[in-house]
Formats: sequence, structure tokens, C-alpha cells
Amino acid sequence: MSALVVVEPGHDAQTLVELARPVSTTVDVVVLGESGEQAAGADSTVVVTADGCGCGEATAALVAELVGAKGADLLVLASTERLREVAALLTARLDAACAPDAVALGRTDEGLTADRLLYGGVAIGTLALQRPVAIVTAAVKPSAGGGAPAPVQTMAAPCIEGKTLTGRTAVADEGGLANADRVVAFGRGVRTHDDIAMVRALADALGAELGCSRPIVDDLKWLDLPHQVGLTGTTVKPQLYVAVGISGQIQHLVGMRESKLIISINNNASAPIFEASDVAVVADLYEVVPRLAQALAARSA
Ligand SMILES: Cc1cc2nc3c(=O)[nH]c(=O)nc-3n(C[C@H](O)[C@H](O)[C@H](O)COP(=O)(O)OP(=O)(O)OC[C@H]3O[C@@H](n4cnc5c(N)ncnc54)[C@H](O)[C@@H]3O)c2cc1C
Repeated sequence: MSALVVVEPGHDAQTLVELARPVSTTVDVVVLGESGEQAAGADSTVVVTADGCGCGEATAALVAELVGAKGADLLVLASTERLREVAALLTARLDAACAPDAVALGRTDEGLTADRLLYGGVAIGTLALQRPVAIVTAAVKPSAGGGAPAPVQTMAAPCIEGKTLTGRTAVADEGGLANADRVVAFGRGVRTHDDIAMVRALADALGAELGCSRPIVDDLKWLDLPHQVGLTGTTVKPQLYVAVGISGQIQHLVGMRESKLIISINNNASAPIFEASDVAVVADLYEVVPRLAQALAARSA
């Protein structure tokens, strides 16, 4: 009944520790990188630096060794592009049960269970993870910083020839969106490509990353996939999410509804985004956004 939480530097492991805690007597955290902070609520935190090539398979081998050393029956990995690949490799290596994007864990007489959101978040499915080792991935927030540095341990990771992924494009780059503290996202309410500059000015004034809804990527091709928020894009959990001209369909909401403060600007008072918002601004975005950006820029000048 021991869990190992695996994150990358800059992640706040606490959410994953809290996910594992109800079903585990000990929860240890491993940060894969050069540095990392002590995770709140964990029994131990260690930064593991790999003395090897660091490809997915080498990382999986290294984590598998830690699972054996700790006797863990549960592995919780941050749902990042790199660690999702590692989760898949570990599932094969350990003959484990795997549940991607778990939101809650349970334990029954038959073993661990994982709850996942289905159909864009309108239903919850419970998976029975009936193997000696269960692996789940789950959303992680960026660290607020300020924690004590965790001790560092160096481990040898095998260099596995011919298995390093090459040819990744910008599409595979999650950009800063997944870990952003503030996001300003826009949708089809923005009428022309040139008008993106107006939204970008608001994002800059707030020190926010720029996000968008799917039609901006798929139909209009104004931004790349790393900017898309939602079911088929990135899941964000910022402190502040500003939705500009976004209707708030469920496929968008599942990617941003866990944001701490949601402010929406939409000229349709019945837009579904308002139901998920803390602050609803019923107005023409072309009036509000430039004025807001100007006021914020003037304040910080
Ligand atoms: C399988 C599947 C996966 C999907 N995945 C995603 C996903 O990951 N992310 C995603 O976003 N969508 C996704 N979608 C699409 C989703 O269903 C919606 O079609 C999409 O989110 C709508 O984008 P939008 O809000 O920008 O556009 P619209 O729905 O057209 O909304 C535009 C909004 O702008 C407002 N508006 C217009 N003019 C102004 C103005 N001047 N001032 C203020 N407001 C104005 C309108 O009132 C309207 O509410 C997916 C769909 C499917 C079927």
C-alpha cells in the first residue's frame, strides 16, 4: 500500500500526493530533473538525476527500479507529454494496469480503482486496476515555488540505442499553457486574425499565456494545437483564466473549469461559459478587451 508519485521540476506534487494518499499508507515523491522542492504531504521527496541518455525507455527503467526499491503498488505520474510516454512504457515493462487522467482513486477487496471523466466530463467511469502494480496519470499544477529543496540522488539510467524519439514538431510542444499561472484564451467571437493582437495585448498586460478554443486551431488555423484548451487540447489549471468570445461548450470547459478564477467576456448573456465563470462580463469584447488591457498596462507602468 505504498505509492510513488513522479513529477518533473516545477510541478506542485501536492495534488498527486493527495490523490494517492487515501489508498496508500506511504507516499514518496520522485522529481525527475536537476532540482525540485519537498512536496507537501509526502513521506519523502527525492530529486533523481539520471546518469544516462534520459530517453523515455531509460527513464522508464529508472522509475521501474524505484518502484521495486520502494515496493510500491501504485505509481502516479504527472500527465505531461514526457511522463505519459513513460507511463505507457512502464505499463508494458511492469505488466501493470494503467488508467490515464485519473481524478480519484479507491481501494476495494479486488484492488485499486481509478475514476476518470468520460464524454467530456459529463460522466465518471471507474476502472478496476487488478494487477500487482497500478499506474495512473493525473493533471498536475505548476509549483508556486518557495518550498525547501529536496535531496538529490543520482541513478544510472541505461542508454537504449535506437529508441530515442526524433522529429518532434511544435505540435508536440506543450508550450507554457499547461503550467501557466494565468491564461487569456479567445474563441470565435474574435472576428479577424489581426484582432488577435488585441487579445495578446491583454495577455501581455496580465503576464498570461495565450490560449484559444478549437475552431481557432482546426478551422481558422490562426494558432497551433499547443494553444488549444479543452478535451482535444491542453488541460489548464491556472490561478486566472480569462475567456474572450468563447461560448463554453463542454469540450472546452473540461480543459479549463478547474481554473481558480474564471472571468468570461461574451456578448450573449446565455452563453454556457457564464455557468462555469466566477465573473461574467456581458459585453462586446471589442469594447472591453482594449480598455482592460490599457488600464492594466497603465497600472503597471
Ligand atoms: C470530439 C470533440 C472535441 C472537441 N475538443 C475541443 C477542445 O479541445 N477545445 C475546444 O475549445 N473545443 C473543442 N471542441 C469544439 C466545441 O464543441 C466547440 O465547437 C468550440 O469550443 C466552440 O468554440 P468557440 O467558443 O470559440 O466558438 P463559438 O461556439 O462559435 O462561440 C463564439 C462565442 O463568441 C461570442 N461572441 C461573438 N461575438 C462577440 C463579441 N463581439 N463580443 C463578445 N462575445 C462575442 C458568442 O456569443 C459565442 O458565445 C470539440 C468538439 C468535439 C466534437
